[in-house]
Amino acid sequence: MTPTEADAYSTSAAAYVHVPFCSSVCPYCDFAVVAGRDDLVDRYIDAVCTEIMTSESWRPLEAIYFGGGTPSHIDPLLLGGVLDALSLKHGISADAEVSLEANPEDFDATRATALRSLGFNRVSFGAQSFDAGVLVALGRRHQAGQIESSVRAARDAGFENVSLDLIYGTPGETTNSWSDTLSRAIDLDPDHISCYALTVEPGTPLGRAVRDGAEAPDPDIQADRYENADKVLNAAGHTRYEVSNWSRPEHECRYNLNVWAQGQYEAYGNGSHGYRDGVRFRNIRRVDAYVRAVESGKTQRSGNDVIESWDAEIDRLFVGLRRVVGVAPGPGVTAFLTSDSGRRLLDAGVVNMVGGRLTINRPLLTDEVHRCVIDLEAPECTPTQIQ
Ligand code: SF4
Repeated sequence: MTPTEADAYSTSAAAYVHVPFCSSVCPYCDFAVVAGRDDLVDRYIDAVCTEIMTSESWRPLEAIYFGGGTPSHIDPLLLGGVLDALSLKHGISADAEVSLEANPEDFDATRATALRSLGFNRVSFGAQSFDAGVLVALGRRHQAGQIESSVRAARDAGFENVSLDLIYGTPGETTNSWSDTLSRAIDLDPDHISCYALTVEPGTPLGRAVRDGAEAPDPDIQADRYENADKVLNAAGHTRYEVSNWSRPEHECRYNLNVWAQGQYEAYGNGSHGYRDGVRFRNIRRVDAYVRAVESGKTQRSGNDVIESWDAEIDRLFVGLRRVVGVAPGPGVTAFLTSDSGRRLLDAGVVNMVGGRLTINRPLLTDEVHRCVIDLEAPECTPTQIQ
């Protein structure tokens, strides 16, 4: 993907739909999810449809992403109802990417066929690992064989775009088991693979266990796993286009490309975050509180931040630098390159200038670059000088 193609996503129209229901909550999960509340599913989907129908009309959507939670946990017809609401309200482009996240244990031939016929054309499986011990450590409910059967079901149902999420660096995972996970993932011939380091979030069961003395993921081991993944995936024809995402040519996730290009996206459902008309907004995080707010006609929003002028430029660097193509010149790039920490990162080879664009050369240090970006101070100029 060329920089020009990547930047062009800044003008596309996208929407995120959050589906918070899971069979159980994995110990490392910090998302806005709920387990054991399937009694709320119908009311929740009604609330999401109400939120969509009362939002401001837009133009036909080019990328839609159902994330969670576990969208595949609920009846496909309910997800189809949400797609109908999006279509009625905004329209959906004929060639739109329509993604959903799915867990392997939920995804059989019947569900795959139903979802494909409703209009979903991309599925992202939470595979995480092919090592039985690692899957248990992560609290996952599926077995490796179910990853293989769910990918087959997706292909048989006509999904031309299949992605796998993998997690590396779980305590107990070995070099061999990670290599085996990568090669079994590649054997399934996916179009897209995401690899994430296991992260310990405070407030999760994993966070509490580590606080109380359980083994934490080792950052050095995780760095080795990441480099191994990059090498193996490249050799298999998958090119990294973002810190944690690899794909075959022209199979990059269009929804995420929009987000990283500072494009606009609607967001519906509890805990979701969106960006439209210069405002970043977020919804109430608790499922029941979100449903009650929508049902009673109150706002489901828990916050709005107007992003303008210098904040928009910092935002452009923050999200854009996740991409391998980096970000185009602008006052933020100039401020970065003239700041002490920016120069230090450039001298150390952490960042680079490629074709006039600021890029991150060492993706494992993205957080450090982000810290530098957040601290940048606006140059002395009027807001109209900052585009
Ligand atoms: S299945 Fe995914 S969203 Fe649900 S609890 Fe586990 S990690 Fe979180």
